[in-house]
Amino acid sequence: MFEVIEVPAEAFPKLMESYLSGSYRVYLIVEEMPEKKIFSCKECGKPFEAYPPDDIYTKASLTKTDDCVERTYECSNEKPHKNTVYWAKASPKVFMKTD
Ligand SMILES: [Zn+2]
Repeated sequence: MFEVIEVPAEAFPKLMESYLSGSYRVYLIVEEMPEKKIFSCKECGKPFEAYPPDDIYTKASLTKTDDCVERTYECSNEKPHKNTVYWAKASPKVFMKTD
């Protein structure tokens, strides 16, 4: 059985305490930070790789949003095309697992 529940930060210590006073084993699982992503060129469909500009703006999108970082990448075509990728903020997720 695996269930993911979102816990507000202020409730976390109490929750931990209740688990630790029981006979649970508690694991913290931190979702991996995304690394490079592969996109298809909008002109020719050839793939190109894009890396997040930093550890904060890691959610890639092809549409512009209010708070995003704009980066231009060239596809792997012999005559490369320019492709714009917009990176938005994504907070890393932490999971707690008990058994
Ligand atoms: Zn291309």
